[in-house]
Amino acid sequence: MSLPEVFRGSFTQQEPIPDDAIEAAVAVMRHGRLHRYNTLGDEISEAALLEQEFAALVGAKYCLAVASGGYAMATALRAVGVKPGDRVLSNAFTLAPVPGAIAAVGAQPVFVESTNGLVIDLEDLKGKLDQAKVLLLSHMRGHICDMDALMALCDAAGVTVIEDCAHTMGAAWNGVPSGRHGAIGCYSCQTYKHVNSGEGGLLVTDNAEIAARSIMLSGSYMLYGKHLAGPPPEAFDQIKYETPNISGRMDNLRAALLRPQLRNLDAQVARWNERYFAVETGLRNTPGLSVIERAAGESIVGSSIQFLLQGWAPDKVRDVLDRCSARGVELKWFGAEEPLGFTSRYDSWRYAASAPLPKSDAVLAGLIDMRVPLTFSIEDCTLIARIIREEVSAVFQQM
Ligand SMILES: *Cc1c(COP(=O)(O)O)cnc(C)c1O
Repeated sequence: MSLPEVFRGSFTQQEPIPDDAIEAAVAVMRHGRLHRYNTLGDEISEAALLEQEFAALVGAKYCLAVASGGYAMATALRAVGVKPGDRVLSNAFTLAPVPGAIAAVGAQPVFVESTNGLVIDLEDLKGKLDQAKVLLLSHMRGHICDMDALMALCDAAGVTVIEDCAHTMGAAWNGVPSGRHGAIGCYSCQTYKHVNSGEGGLLVTDNAEIAARSIMLSGSYMLYGKHLAGPPPEAFDQIKYETPNISGRMDNLRAALLRPQLRNLDAQVARWNERYFAVETGLRNTPGLSVIERAAGESIVGSSIQFLLQGWAPDKVRDVLDRCSARGVELKWFGAEEPLGFTSRYDSWRYAASAPLPKSDAVLAGLIDMRVPLTFSIEDCTLIARIIREEVSAVFQQM
């Protein structure tokens, strides 16, 4: 009998920073003007250029570069007027920085159920729209709900939508870039997202007042005139006196790293999707395993993949994870008793008490998640899928 195949790659290793981005960053270090408002004469800072370029990329009027995706979301909540004690709707299935951003402004999340397709449950949302004025919608793991239906519901109820696009930079719904349906789109430039400056975030909006508030909040002192993707000076007339400085600017070094990466985003998205669909094809029709079917309206960025072991007993899921791990395939499980790594759940966030969400509980109990870094080759992806398929089948046969 031949030995079982083993995968030897790393699930957390991203690609190196491209050479043109390294050169741009070195140039910033050589001149030393890392602070975004530290410019000479009519020099335009890397941060201001990044904002202008990202606004153009997604077709937004205004863009602000900040310190993290989490900071972008908290700023967005403040900019639309969320106050301590307010309630904010959000997805039950998301990552800890999302309820964290709500907690950062002293507000309380009201969690909405997730479907088997890993998107917000519009029926449950409909029943909860009277509980809050704002929805912080997370496109968790890149799954985008029917945005036309969601916006119709929220518009009718007067609920402002802020989009968490940490996993959907480069994605779209019916041709509209993710982050451009709601009042504000928030993105992350953290190492594990779609562009990598270590840490970083971007916020986009078409609303001049929201943009002016966000710029003031981020710590622009009275230097907002240096923003290329900011609203006209009149927009700041009152706002500059009313808005506290909660510093969270992006610096020129990170912006320099990001600009060349943004120019290459489309090509990277194509490479992610080749890998995603190689894994998906390899997993399809495995008995006991359901792949997540993607909606026709979704243009995805397959930087991670999820599948369901629906109705499986926890010890059987654990068995699959252990067997895959022994063959080098690192899977994450959102159904474990205790949160591990990034797999915390709404019931792990005890600062934000929630009513039970049985539908989400059933989904999360069988939800397996895997990163798909671009350092994987297509052959790596087909090997990984083969390993998962063999181990899921082996455990399923004994059930
Ligand atoms: C990473 C992430 C964020 C926040 O990004 P940071 O830049 O790490 O603060 C927000 N939402 C989701 C779903 C994420 O995965």
